[in-house]
Amino acid sequence: AAKAAGKGCFRFFAPEMHEAARERQRMESDLRVALEKGQLRVVFQPCVDASTEAVTGFEALIRWDHPEHGPVSPAQFIPLAEEIGLINEIGEWVLRTACVEAAKWPHNISVAVNLSPVQFKSHALPSTVRAILAEADLDATRLELEITEGVLLNNDQHVHDMIHALKAIGVKLALDDFGTGYSSLSYLLRVPFDKIKIDQSFVRGASDPASRNAVLIRAMVGLASDLKMQTTAEGVETQEELMLVRSLGCSLVQGYFFGKPMPVEEARELAAKGAVERPEAQYAAREPR
Ligand code: C2E
Ligand code: MG
Ligand code: MG
Ligand code: MG
Repeated sequence: AAKAAGKGCFRFFAPEMHEAARERQRMESDLRVALEKGQLRVVFQPCVDASTEAVTGFEALIRWDHPEHGPVSPAQFIPLAEEIGLINEIGEWVLRTACVEAAKWPHNISVAVNLSPVQFKSHALPSTVRAILAEADLDATRLELEITEGVLLNNDQHVHDMIHALKAIGVKLALDDFGTGYSSLSYLLRVPFDKIKIDQSFVRGASDPASRNAVLIRAMVGLASDLKMQTTAEGVETQEELMLVRSLGCSLVQGYFFGKPMPVEEARELAAKGAVERPEAQYAAREPR
């Protein structure tokens, strides 16, 4: 009978399910505490120009060091925060923290902040963004908001209004994890994005220009450039991946090869320096071409 109740239900009677449910409840209340007690922090991952390798900006990424469980992935607790109604508060805190920090960097360096689809449900989003920019004394053009296809799923007029209101403020918009969703291209690309971020699943392991991934990246870069949008290759971990995405025309790159997400102090130093130090770069520069 339990099985007949459907796939999601048939484990209802299993004892480990009770344990999982209890664990989840604990995580929920722990997350509330974490927000109140300042146990969340923001780290910054550099984004560099694909040809000059100069640092152009940083992406703000949230971290939660759970007092008992250690680091919890945002891929795990952001969905939880969305479900329990904490994401607006958390999202606003990330935005404020990121903007206040970015205001300390040289003016040519921008900051990118991820927004949850849930944050778009609030009518207050544009005014919140405007207020935080003013409070942080950060020029709107230095803030980039990253959204995923999930925001656009049901062709909602309200979402489009929000997007245009954000554009009117002067912030940049990026489409995150491009190529991993199910939206139609013509629909997606009608949204006035300034940039698309090519998901790391296309970049990983790609070195052969004739590979399927390379073909896909080339097509995405072509589309973006025809639409006057920039492209960021996400998740570049190796010299080979860098060479490939560079040759395919990606304007920007981000990934462990240039830097993992780092604490504020380190990001501040790197922002002031303006370029990532990596032994391979020096080596490559010495190589006769
Ligand atoms: P995302 O926005 O697509 O961020 C990129 C993720 O890839 C980050 O994981 C980053 O640490 C990781 N990454 C960057 N370069 C490399 C690389 O070379 N190799 C590998 N293997 N990974 C790389 P992270 O920080 O765990 O975040 C995961 C996701 O959680 C993010 O994906 C984003 O969707 C969400 N997220 C993170 N911070 C926030 C936030 O403040 N608000 C919201 N709404 N979502 C967030
Ligand atoms: Mg992102
Ligand atoms: Mg991404
Ligand atoms: Mg992602």
